[in-house]
Amino acid sequence: MGKQIMTDLTNELTAWDRDHFFHPSTHMAAHARGDTPTRVVTGGDGVYITDRDGKRSLDAFAGLYCVNVGYGRREIADAIAEQAGKLAYYHAYAGHGSEPSITLAKMIVDRAPAGMSRVYFGLSGSDANETNIKLVWYYNNILGRPEKKKIISRWRGYHGSGVMTGSLTGLELFHKAFDLPRPPVLHTEAPYYFRRADRSMSEEQFSQHCADQLEALIQAEGPETIAAFIGEPVLGTGGIVPPPAGYWEKVQAVLDKHDILLIADEVVTGFGRLGSMFGSDHYGIRPDLITIAKGLTSAYAPLSGVIVGDRVWKVLEQGSDQLGPIGHGWTYSAHPLCAAAGVANLELVDTLDLVTNARETGGYFRAALADALAGHPMVGEVRGEGMLAAVEFVADKDDRRFFPVEAKVGPRLSAALLERGVIARAMPQGDILGFAPPLCLTGEEADIVVSATAKAVKAVAAEL
Ligand code: PMP
Repeated sequence: MGKQIMTDLTNELTAWDRDHFFHPSTHMAAHARGDTPTRVVTGGDGVYITDRDGKRSLDAFAGLYCVNVGYGRREIADAIAEQAGKLAYYHAYAGHGSEPSITLAKMIVDRAPAGMSRVYFGLSGSDANETNIKLVWYYNNILGRPEKKKIISRWRGYHGSGVMTGSLTGLELFHKAFDLPRPPVLHTEAPYYFRRADRSMSEEQFSQHCADQLEALIQAEGPETIAAFIGEPVLGTGGIVPPPAGYWEKVQAVLDKHDILLIADEVVTGFGRLGSMFGSDHYGIRPDLITIAKGLTSAYAPLSGVIVGDRVWKVLEQGSDQLGPIGHGWTYSAHPLCAAAGVANLELVDTLDLVTNARETGGYFRAALADALAGHPMVGEVRGEGMLAAVEFVADKDDRRFFPVEAKVGPRLSAALLERGVIARAMPQGDILGFAPPLCLTGEEADIVVSATAKAVKAVAAEL
């Protein structure tokens, strides 16, 4: 195509976009006015994406921490195409399945932590967490405990954007003007060691403090009313915050004491991101239900799931003799095309040994990032786990003061990085730059990200 025609088409697409496309998580008026860029992404290869203007960027956030195997994998595209040619769709109701959906359920349980039994498929992390909420209620109804229904989540947790999952989410942006959160969702303290109120606390002491806060909330509400606790092994959208030492062990003890189910939301951490197949194994968490999505297909097709543990499954199975078939299903549950993508994706994760690479190259990347930024007056902390990293910026290193919101430090840093050819994400709450590259990142690619970050931080610091 000639350059002129290409440019005309881009202009036309930009106009259509401004006039007709309602974007998620976007400032609507600013976008309609043209203040925010329209970026028409047309291709992807390895850790890079390309847009219509021919600009290539190293995607150090793997889309929305989901393209774990990287872009342009022929094996997954071929598996989807082959399945589409054979059977694009059949439902999974009343015992129906397809070859890839049954195979994938088996592959997931084989990789899951011990004690997991069945996989319920959905399409997004949000709908999988809706399934979790309903399963927890259903479970307690079968057990004759209709009052045990409240679900405790953490401030800064992210569990979706639906009515109930948006309630579980503990971020103001996702509640504001939506009349959320709704009962019976409750929130407890985030395990955010860097921002603990009492700086004299050690990690272990702070973990104990978080467990004590949880215990106090349970006592105030009545343990007989609390059904479940949900948490991400590492807080993701809330700032990429690994748990302080001893956190999960102490939380698990509180939940066990009060017969409260534990939902591990592994939408980000599942399938290798932390350098272990699951975050639950990484931290010794014993969940009853696990939420999976993103890395299940590396986002080549939308697919999520709930992995149901034996303890819950046994009750659900018994309950069906009283209640009949479970009244919960999506048209696209276990969609064959998405399942085919999942099978090919998990095979690639194995053959490329991406879990090991997440641990090793991820470790190298975080250490290099910390080195490059060491001593910078704006850098409060560099943290992460596996192929997940964050840099938290502070206006003052001693009192860890935030920059004024108007200074837009996070968005300015991510824009400065993009100018240097690298995509990182300004996390929605706080001045935090997040990194979650594809798990196939190489050492050389990590160096590119680190060097661009150091330059971007220097440039923004000079402006401030
Ligand atoms: N849980 C976690 C931990 C997530 O990070 C996300 C998405 N970022 C979700 C749930 C929701 O997933 P989705 O956007 O696919 O609905």
